[in-house]
Amino acid sequence: MSDTVFGKIIRREIPAQIVYEDERAIAFKDIAPQAPVHILVVPKEPIPGIAQAKPEQEALLGHLLLTAQRVAAEAGLNKGYRLVINEGEDGGQTVFHLHIHILGGRAMGWPPG
Ligand code: AMP
Repeated sequence: MSDTVFGKIIRREIPAQIVYEDERAIAFKDIAPQAPVHILVVPKEPIPGIAQAKPEQEALLGHLLLTAQRVAAEAGLNKGYRLVINEGEDGGQTVFHLHIHILGGRAMGWPPG
């Protein structure tokens, strides 16, 4: 298991506002929301980032996207939303356990910062 804060959430060692969970993934509210809805979709397997994902994890990666779709719908984001994966230093990644951000509840700007 991962030693990151997300591993601790998966193992229930620290609290989180969990909105979805299955055998492969968990989704919980971001502790510092950047939009009215800001939820993180996280694989239970501790992949450090998208750059480290392996071909044999293809099905898991697809599952994470479909989980994001489902969680966004359950959050009522019927006007749209943005999915973000930050990778590495230039990508602004701060937690090195792969996660998809779901951002919604307001119109998003482009380009991102
Ligand atoms: P990133 O910068 O893409 O690695 O995103 C990490 C995200 O994790 C940030 O948006 C943080 O606000 C969020 N985060 C960090 N610690 C926690 C926590 N304990 N519970 C929920 N979200 C967290």
